[in-house]
Amino acid sequence: MTADLSPTPAPQLSPTRRAFGVYIGRFEPPHLAHQAVMREALEQVDTLILVIGSARAARTTKNPFTAQEREALIRAMLTEAGVDPARLRFVAVRDHLYDEGRWLAEVRSGVQAHTGGSADVALIGHIKDGSSYYLRSFPDWDFLPTHVISGLSATAVRRALFERRLHDLGGMVPPAVEAFLREFYPSADSAALRAEYEHLLACQAALDPARTPPIAVTAHAAVTRAGRVLLLRRGVHPGQGNLALPGRELLPDETLVACAARAAQLDTGLDVREFMGADATSTGLHAAWLAGQVFDAPDRSPRGRVVAHAFPFNLGSGPLPDLRPGGDAAQALWLPVPEALGSPELFFEDHHAILEELLARA
Ligand code: NAD
Repeated sequence: MTADLSPTPAPQLSPTRRAFGVYIGRFEPPHLAHQAVMREALEQVDTLILVIGSARAARTTKNPFTAQEREALIRAMLTEAGVDPARLRFVAVRDHLYDEGRWLAEVRSGVQAHTGGSADVALIGHIKDGSSYYLRSFPDWDFLPTHVISGLSATAVRRALFERRLHDLGGMVPPAVEAFLREFYPSADSAALRAEYEHLLACQAALDPARTPPIAVTAHAAVTRAGRVLLLRRGVHPGQGNLALPGRELLPDETLVACAARAAQLDTGLDVREFMGADATSTGLHAAWLAGQVFDAPDRSPRGRVVAHAFPFNLGSGPLPDLRPGGDAAQALWLPVPEALGSPELFFEDHHAILEELLARA
């Protein structure tokens, strides 16, 4: 496969050359079009700040590489293209799917740490579709639209990697990135991602294309006791090995909060109703119901459209009940809340973001 990168037109040297340019992306992995945009930007700015999004997340088929790996790749591919790495700065920012203000603030503060508060900042990018909406979220930075025209996408690069078409990589990524991907390919992380990719393909193939894509509704339990939160370690794809909140798809005849309680019992052996005492059962469930929230980011799950509801069950203090893993859980555990909140990269899908919303603000 060959990249359809049209030659970058001779960059118009801006009459007002900027001190700083900001280029935000996932770069999973960085490809030839990203490289062309960066080189074009470097004709117009002195220092280019690369904001690497979706940092500190567990490896998935959509986000296979750590922020550190992506930073190293960008450095290597630009150095290889003759760019002085002293002109590059990096900021890694986590996603905050349910708190846009926090994401914007983290991007701004990360950029400011490099600009020292200078107002001479331009935002670089390409408004390709709805997913680029964030480029309009920094009105105080001038916008420098890129002139790079290319249909290249990182999705095609990831597909080539997971479908064992390594010979296609060369037409899509710079040599330094190709060399890294070839080295990554035989690793255990890569094998796990390929298995997950095949699992997801099988799920998609099982869907009836004549029907509208199904929308699943799930309920999850965020059970806490004595400063710990109840979690499970997934034993199956997707997200094998990741930590997750107990959860289940809603049955036709149950309420969401009852579904969450059922999930806790099936996945970890803990019956929250019994634990809250017979009298407190309905009150306890009602308190959890009142504090429940909906988590509906459209692409929160690679399995398809899944709208999740999550409910906090606060079981107070005292000894921790024994656990018995079931369902998709290879292990059930009580993790100290600060440890769980401080380890986003260990979590499945957006379960860390769910925990943050339910616990960190409580
Ligand atoms: P991307 O790697 O797909 O693209 C990065 C940039 O390159 C974009 O400006 C894109 O338009 C441009 N680009 C991509 N392919 C191109 C091509 N072929 N030709 C020319 N330009 C091309 O990254 P993205 O998904 O846009 O990255 C945004 C990041 O910010 C993600 O990590 C996202 O999760 C994060 N984000 C998070 C939040 C939140 O958590 N609330 C909100 C907004 C964005």
